[in-house]
Amino acid sequence: MIPISRPLIGLEEEAAVLAVLRSGMIAQGPQVERFEAAFAALCGVPYAVAVSSGTTALHLALLAHGIGPGDEVITTPFTFIATANSILMAGARPVFVDIDPASFNIDPDLIAAAITPRTKAIIPVHLYGQIAAMDEIMEIADHHGLVVIEDAAQAIGARFHGRPAGSVGTGCFSLYATKNITSGEGGMITTADPVVADHLRLLRSHGSRMRYYHELLGYNFRMTDLQAAIGLVQLGKLAAFTERRLYHAAFFDRHISHPEVTKPQVQPGLRHVFHQYTLRIHADRAEAARQLAVAGVGTAIFYPLPIPHQPYYREIGYTDHLPVADQMSTEVLALPVYPGLSDADLSQIVDAVNGLRLG
Ligand SMILES: *Cc1c(COP(=O)(O)O)cnc(C)c1O
Repeated sequence: MIPISRPLIGLEEEAAVLAVLRSGMIAQGPQVERFEAAFAALCGVPYAVAVSSGTTALHLALLAHGIGPGDEVITTPFTFIATANSILMAGARPVFVDIDPASFNIDPDLIAAAITPRTKAIIPVHLYGQIAAMDEIMEIADHHGLVVIEDAAQAIGARFHGRPAGSVGTGCFSLYATKNITSGEGGMITTADPVVADHLRLLRSHGSRMRYYHELLGYNFRMTDLQAAIGLVQLGKLAAFTERRLYHAAFFDRHISHPEVTKPQVQPGLRHVFHQYTLRIHADRAEAARQLAVAGVGTAIFYPLPIPHQPYYREIGYTDHLPVADQMSTEVLALPVYPGLSDADLSQIVDAVNGLRLG
């Protein structure tokens, strides 16, 4: 079976971890600093702050911008739960705005109607590796004085009009095992604002600038040097990994053809990095996934249940029905697109999709 994703860890990562283990400095240290500098350079921003996960990156980004109880934050219902949960963790209230079916990202035309006097921020998600409509979103945000936090967990290396993901708003990235590069677990926050960067560093480490003196209520959301060492090696491989993903996506674009299947669309001016290659299935999706599994092709559904329908969100009073997100959640099916696929894997995937016998 070709799995839906597989991290590519090589001898360089093994050697880097071993060197850290033998150095005796295994918690946050010099490797984290090096990783931050390299990450900031990649994103074209002056500051990157490493944290323990993409979730804690989002949580701290909200806190560093002073968002908390009484505030509303606009985001998409069609994302991983961490996007919205980070807003709840900060004590604020997520407000869900429906998505554009062409990009699966938040529909900028619907944002203005969701803004209230309590709105403080927008968190667009660059879903599947494609940047959200940042021009429109920044214009709305500037007009209303809102903070923009990019959930770029799936979009490291993505660009719009040449600008990297995480360089426009405050950027939040994940280094989880399935993401385009990984450190096992880990996260990164990018910003051009020195005050925000300083606040983030305090928040991730018990509000402490000087050992055992605590300026504010902080957390332990630090990254270890073990993770940073892996992340640094992976960052060096990102360009090659992304080229492979783009090659696989182009192969699928050229060769997949089925009347019940819509392929992903890349919006003009964008560099999609294909964290996922997501089809829409206009027939029985469960049957399609079953037939693909029989043909040896693993698939996944990102995401089967929009966030306002999640049991916890129901419990706290959400009743939204966002029709496009609801529809996409019944249609989407992601194919394996990770860099380690072979040419034989690519042909097997294409043949399996084109051979689907649906209704
Ligand atoms: C993975 C992911 C996160 C959370 O990152 P973790 O490192 O798993 O905490 C947040 N948002 C999106 C869109 C993600 O894909």
